This record gives sequence, C-alpha cells and structure tokens, in this order.
Amino acid sequence: MNNKVYCPVCRVSFAVREPLEKGKELICPVCGARLEIEAIEPEIKSRKKPQTPDEEINDRVDTFARLKGYVFGENKDEVIDGMKQKKERYGDFYCPCRFDNVPENICPCQETRMGDVRKNGSCL
Ligand SMILES: [Zn+2]
Repeated sequence: MNNKVYCPVCRVSFAVREPLEKGKELICPVCGARLEIEAIEPEIKSRKKPQTPDEEINDRVDTFARLKGYVFGENKDEVIDGMKQKKERYGDFYCPCRFDNVPENICPCQETRMGDVRKNGSCL
C-alpha cells in the first residue's frame, strides 16, 4: 500500500511504500529534508526531524546532492553561511542568492528541485 507523506519543507506529498510508524525517519525524495513521522492516525503527519540549524542545512544539502548526483562548487561554505544567516534573521534557510524570503526559495529552491541544475549546470 502507498502512503502519502507531506514534506513541510518543500510542501509536496510523496508516496512511501514501506510501512510507516510513529517516529520513523524518512528522507524527502524531492528536497532531501530529513523528516520524522509524528502520527499515523487519524492521518499521517510528519515534521522536520529536530536537528540543530547547522546539522539541518548541511544534512539537507548533502542528502539532496547525493539523491540527484550533484557535486558542490568551491563556494559551498560561503553559501551555507549565507543560509545560516538567513535562518537567524528570517526564520528559514532561504537561498542567499535570491532576494525574496519566500517558501519557494528555501534551499533547495523550487527551480533547483525542478531540475535547474541539470539545465544550467549549477543553481543560479
Ligand atoms: Zn521535501
């Protein structure tokens, strides 16, 4: 049976074939976020696995890159630092290369989730 799990980071639902239970960890196949199942009944609820901001963003970008087969450029640390600053100031890991702090720009941003890296050779 397919279960639908909602990712609170990229705001899409994805199908999971394996049985779910409370506390189970999952990786969002769209954005690489590490999630945790909060409840099964009356509906499946998930949340971001509690991690420090540092762990969270490094884990997410590394997982996303691994899922997609992408490699990092030499300015990785700079970009991650920029995202940590945005997290402190604006509450989430918005892309430091983008002006608007909107959900579409939470790393990995929507364009990147949709395959822009394959088209353009990099994100932005
Ligand atoms: Zn996601």
